[in-house]
Amino acid sequence: MDLIPHIVDGRETRSASGETFATVDPWTREPWAEVSLGGAEEAGLAVAAARRAFDDGPWPRMGFAERGAILHRLADLIDEHRGELALADTTDMGKPIADSTAKDVPRSALNFRFFADHARLSAGDALPMDSGHHAYSRFEPAGVVAAIAPWNFPLMLETWKVAPALAWGNTVVLKPAEDTPASATLLAGLALQAGMPPGVLNVVHGYGPAAAGEALTTDPRVDRITFTGESGTGRAIARAAAANLTPVSLELGGKGANVVFADADLDSAVSWSIKAIFSNAGQVCLAGSRLYVQREVYDEFLARFTAAAEGLVTGDPKDPATQLGPLASAEHHAKVTSYLDGVPADGGTIVTGGRGDGWTVRPTVVTGAPPEARIHREEVFGPVVVVTPFDTEAEAVAAANDSPYGLNAMVFTENLSRAHRVAAALKAGTVWANCFFIRDLRAPFGGVGDSGVGREGGNFSREFFTEPKAVVMAVAPA
Ligand code: NAD
Repeated sequence: MDLIPHIVDGRETRSASGETFATVDPWTREPWAEVSLGGAEEAGLAVAAARRAFDDGPWPRMGFAERGAILHRLADLIDEHRGELALADTTDMGKPIADSTAKDVPRSALNFRFFADHARLSAGDALPMDSGHHAYSRFEPAGVVAAIAPWNFPLMLETWKVAPALAWGNTVVLKPAEDTPASATLLAGLALQAGMPPGVLNVVHGYGPAAAGEALTTDPRVDRITFTGESGTGRAIARAAAANLTPVSLELGGKGANVVFADADLDSAVSWSIKAIFSNAGQVCLAGSRLYVQREVYDEFLARFTAAAEGLVTGDPKDPATQLGPLASAEHHAKVTSYLDGVPADGGTIVTGGRGDGWTVRPTVVTGAPPEARIHREEVFGPVVVVTPFDTEAEAVAAANDSPYGLNAMVFTENLSRAHRVAAALKAGTVWANCFFIRDLRAPFGGVGDSGVGREGGNFSREFFTEPKAVVMAVAPA
């Protein structure tokens, strides 16, 4: 079996202890590779390498064009290695190969291209002042960035953090999720091939609490922590980072509300609502897991939505025809099915779906669950949607906002004023009207409430990954 190493200071390394752990293919439910198990020692070595590369190396001192050229080469290499990277994520966590090939890997390449260009084009502001002074801002790299990633979009979310951090001249220690180590090591290898100096992008594998992850969050040599994962983990990381006053960006859980009005284009609303909850087997922070449908069209919508859910193909994620693979791990499968087991007691009916073979869960539609039911309030993170009727716009907005989360929401209506009104009233970092998941990388991305702290994307990433500095010059009169 392969051994997936750390990448520290440009070299493939094993842990000092020699310890490893297995990464399991959730379709076969067998280990498919061994991974070097990093702890505090390996995290410390990776931070030291990133620190040296930042303090003494060429990366932060390069011009934007030179750094950008390396990041563009890396994007090209990601495209060239698309099959290998897609297979790594699919084998690690069961994502359908069609999605990892056509969506996740191309988007990962785009992350590097976009942030390379964005940094070069937004490197400062000039502010001529009425007083005769001249002010300008500089966006200087912050230093060493710790990037801690989840398992649901491994390469895509890692590059969403790593690309802006690198484009702005920082050096990085990336800790991928323990369930999905493979693509991160491949990425760091491609970065070296693209000409990135050693120590600029380091990868350390291992667990979170009292392990490699926590060590990164408490290391005083780290200047920024960017984290995507569960809200509870986000709280632990914010507490750890507070000791050193290290700035954190937290992209956390969600319980997306999806509101379908009677005046919506129902074909389009059904199709987007299916994508919103069943893509990636519902293991999406942005999943539209609470579906509110106006009563006039509730029965018709539910019938069409249920039929479409039953038509989705669940199975081997390496088969290009598969639309839902297994859930990512035994532990996650147990968590998701515990919500299904709780439905009868909490109130509600499973209209279609339920447990499938192995670690799969079939597309599941639940109706009649009261607002206080666990399945209605907590992030299930699986292919499970709760559908509820509503009567008025005000009632829909109140129900959608009745959640500790506030990552995103969707609204389907052909009434333009209603779309804008509801988008303004929804408590969410992103609202999609008559669509889902469409991203402009310049737009702010993040959540309110338990869904996160801070925003990334475009200038928002610039503000987080740099130390903005104001320079004010007196211009002497003639
Ligand atoms: P998780 O919080 O269990 O783990 C995420 C990462 O944090 C892993 O690398 C893990 O090893 C590490 N970690 C765990 N405890 C840590 C600690 N104490 N200190 C440092 N690191 C620690 O999350 P997950 O199960 O991998 O991912 C699923 C979650 O991520 C869901 O809640 C989902 O909504 C969320 N998510 C959010 C977004 C977003 O953009 N808001 C995107 C994707 C996923």
